[in-house]
Parts: sequence; structure tokens; C-alpha cells
Amino acid sequence: MKKASLAFLILFLSSLIMGCVHAPQVNQPDRRQEGLGYFHRDGSINWDADEAQIDMIVIHHSAMKSDASWKEISDLQKETLYRPRYESLDPEPYLKGQEPHSGHFRAIGDELIEVFYAYQWLIRPDGKSERLLLDKDVGWQAGNWKVNCRSVAICFAGDFTFGQPTEQATDACASLIADYIKKFPAIKLEANVIGHNEVNKKTICPGNEFLGPGGWKEALIKKTLELLNKS
Ligand SMILES: [Zn+2]
Repeated sequence: MKKASLAFLILFLSSLIMGCVHAPQVNQPDRRQEGLGYFHRDGSINWDADEAQIDMIVIHHSAMKSDASWKEISDLQKETLYRPRYESLDPEPYLKGQEPHSGHFRAIGDELIEVFYAYQWLIRPDGKSERLLLDKDVGWQAGNWKVNCRSVAICFAGDFTFGQPTEQATDACASLIADYIKKFPAIKLEANVIGHNEVNKKTICPGNEFLGPGGWKEALIKKTLELLNKS
């Protein structure tokens, strides 16, 4: 074979391979189209468009100091969750090169601040629960988009890589879970209340002592059951 035709063949084959790698998925709707609900009026992407019926609760730890403010968590998760997604080479999102948007806002006085934290609730060691996202918001928390869309996320403030949350914090979490189960009966306590690492094996969140005999998941489920049986 002549050099020129060999080069052409190589070019042709490599374009086929590249084509396979980068081919868009045929069944993927074009989310840029008006009417599909994937954009807000201001042109930012609507990440909540896939929100589904809630039937799961995912438990996390913040892996930060336990008194980290919502602003510190938001700033960190903007960089660790949203920015990489906006800068990724995946076909989505379509708003490449722009400052990341969550589409979630928090009112501070008259001002609306865009927030990037991934959880519905944050529980402090003293048992105080802070509302972060609304239930209808899709938090980028589980490392699995389908799970994000059908779950709410409860985060224990602090780093529980080793050790366990306080009793007050566990009580507060059990109370939140019991309320959610009453509100969304599709949440099954034993099967659908899970740790982040039960969805995504790459993380140890919510900590090494969550699962297994004597783990704090066991205590959390037991306390929730007691609350549900009382009501
Ligand atoms: Zn987590």
C-alpha cells in the first residue's frame, strides 16, 4: 500500500474511533430547547428540572469543622461540585465557560445570594438543625444523578471519618427522618435511608463508623423507629 493511502486509511479509522467516543447520544433531548424546562428565564440552567418523587434520604458528614458556616460550605461546594461540572468536557452542561450556577438562592435581608451547598439539612453537634436547600431542590450530594433527584440530604456538621456524631445530633436527625417518612411514605426506613457511601463506594462519607454492627446508622434507625411508633 502506498504511503498516501496508508495515511488516509489511518486518518479514516481514527476519525471513526473518535466519532464513536464523542458521538452524542441519539435519545438525549436537546436541553437547550425552549419548553423542556432546563433553563431559567435568566438563561442559567435549571438543574432542578429532573426532580422526581422523593423516596430516599441520604446521610452525609460535612468533613469540615463542625461550626463551618453555610457560606463556607457553599463556597467550598461551588468549587468542588459545580465548577468541575461546568468545566468538564462532557456534552453537558451547555453553559460552558460561564460562572457556575446552581439556581438555588438564599434571602439575606433584601438580597438573594446564590448558594451551592448540596444538602437539605445541616445538623450541628448540639442538635440544632439548619435548613439549607428546599425539598424540591436537587442537591448535588450523592454522586449519582438519579439518586440526587429522588432524595433529600441530611448532613452532620463535622468530620466523622473517625468517631460518631453526638447523641443530640443523632436525635435531631432521627426526628427529621421520621417527619420525612410521614410526609413522603415512599421512603422506607430500612431500605431507603442510606449513607452517601452506600450510593457511591468511592467516598467514606458519612464516616467509617456509620455502617456495621455498633455503627451509628443502627442507632439512627432505632431512634427513628421509636419516634414513628410513638406517633
Ligand atoms: Zn457525603
